[in-house]
Amino acid sequence: MDFVTGLKCKECGRLYPAKALHVCDFCFGPLEVDYDYDAIKASVSRESIEVGPRSIWRYSALLPVEGDDNLSMGTGFTPLVRAERLGAELGLPDLWVKNDTANPTGSFKDRVVSVSLAKARELGFKVVACASTGNLANAVAAHSARAGMESLVFIPRDLEVAKVVTTAVYGGHLVAVDGNYDDVNRLCAELTSEHDDWAFVNVNVRPYYAEGSKTLAFEVAEQMGWRTPDHVVVPVASGSQLTKIAKGFKELYSVGLLDEQPEVRISGAQALGCSPVAEAFKSGRDVIRPVKPNTIAKSLAIGNPADGWYALDTVRSTGGSFASVTDDEIIEGIKILARTEGIFAETAGGVTVASLIKLVSEGAIRPDESVVIFITGHGLKTVEALTGSVRPTVTVAPKMDAFAEAMAGRLAGI
Ligand SMILES: *Cc1c(COP(=O)(O)O)cnc(C)c1O
Ligand SMILES: [Zn+2]
Repeated sequence: MDFVTGLKCKECGRLYPAKALHVCDFCFGPLEVDYDYDAIKASVSRESIEVGPRSIWRYSALLPVEGDDNLSMGTGFTPLVRAERLGAELGLPDLWVKNDTANPTGSFKDRVVSVSLAKARELGFKVVACASTGNLANAVAAHSARAGMESLVFIPRDLEVAKVVTTAVYGGHLVAVDGNYDDVNRLCAELTSEHDDWAFVNVNVRPYYAEGSKTLAFEVAEQMGWRTPDHVVVPVASGSQLTKIAKGFKELYSVGLLDEQPEVRISGAQALGCSPVAEAFKSGRDVIRPVKPNTIAKSLAIGNPADGWYALDTVRSTGGSFASVTDDEIIEGIKILARTEGIFAETAGGVTVASLIKLVSEGAIRPDESVVIFITGHGLKTVEALTGSVRPTVTVAPKMDAFAEAMAGRLAGI
């Protein structure tokens, strides 16, 4: 069973039933899932969670789905690794990496899709659809295949090859649209109003989709021994993930899983070529001005972010900051993480690492803080970003002397 009391408007607080609804009829505010926290508190404990499945479904009491292990994709409970070598380079002795490249389709989107697809199935939908910058496409196609549902995935036509292949392989319908993500999203919003029998994971069932991101906060707290870090750095596309990580930390306290009210500073990371939320933060504005994206971080290239204002508000109210980084810095970020921690991230991960570096150098992140960065997608999805900047050390003839000559003086011998 679930503990959902309904959907609640984030602006005016009006209540709605837990159906495929996403905006308030009165004020057009976004709807959010609301729970009976007292009932959850009475039914969960650290011990009951710790013996649960090693996936996001160990937190099913805090998720808006009735069943338990809904699709068994193995999503979530990804490694939280101590990043000693990266931390040493940056002067951060207590740095951690939440490695979400380890999810079934290689990105954090498996979390939001696991939840929204399970809910869509519960609500009786047969067709699952989405507008995607790539990773969502992979996750929707894979989960639909496993659930035996028909999928309809819309992407901008200029996506990375790997993201197209790793969506198309699952056999659903893949529609490449001649336009950028914001064009794709607009088309999908129009289609949603024509086809109320399709579950668009990030449109009409968005309230459930968004809840999936809370599991990042739940896992980090549990993996740190039921406490929270001082500071987290979160990549921002629509701003949903960042907003929900904050909600996740709060909920853990509401249901008695944390002893103290968490005080986590939340900072956002964007690519300079698509940084509408970071720009608003830096100029002290409340309005997010839409931009036309131009960055190699395509999974974050949302020029008109649906939850941008809430992400901005969360960063401000928690005492966090924002950084935006260039394409060169993104590539450096990918390489530093790979070289120091053995984790290969996609361009969004490069944005997060490069933003971390910037926030440290600006003093927004202090050396005495425990810091968690969210690495949200696997590097194999965006290999072309590194073409030209990584290559074999040497190319040699298959001969001992050729090897010895080419490698002379290159081995450090550590
Ligand atoms: C979608 C995505 C994000 C950010 O998601 P939002 O919730 O839309 O801000 C971060 N990283 C990766 C790799 C993504 O695919
Ligand atoms: Zn409202």
